[in-house]
Amino acid sequence: MTDVYIALGSNLGDRHTLFLQAIEQMVQRVGLLVRCSSFIETEPVGFVSAHPFLNAVALYRTTLTPEELLKTTQEIERELGRTTKSVNGQYEDRTIDLDILLYGDEIIDTPELKIPHPRMQERPFVMQPLEEVRKNLTISRDF
Ligand code: AMP
Repeated sequence: MTDVYIALGSNLGDRHTLFLQAIEQMVQRVGLLVRCSSFIETEPVGFVSAHPFLNAVALYRTTLTPEELLKTTQEIERELGRTTKSVNGQYEDRTIDLDILLYGDEIIDTPELKIPHPRMQERPFVMQPLEEVRKNLTISRDF
């Protein structure tokens, strides 16, 4: 079993419902959902759009290989209505974007898959929910 962190992004359609559908599909096909961050609203970065994003990070525990995981997240993106991929780093509006941030402590660098995700560190809309998910659970003494 490997811990994998998936970043979710959406700025088209019913973003909240799309997130819930993507999270549920990953429960069915990726593995156990360990934790999910808050859903945060952010401005588009890298391109101009009138549609703000919803962003989140979810932690799953999976038996899929990295390649199987990428295939699965791409299938879910397609099923939830994403029709285009970014080309040469040009971004555009999207119903759902699923990026693999971390796969255990593996480093992968193939043409199809780069892990850790190469741009995650420069993206506050990824790092903020990632930190929220990675924070230790603290339970108050009064609880
Ligand atoms: P995007 O359009 O931003 O979803 O980019 C998808 C493309 O990035 C796909 O063609 C993937 O093969 C490639 N890719 C490389 N590394 C990753 C990763 N860690 N997670 C998701 N897609 C990746």
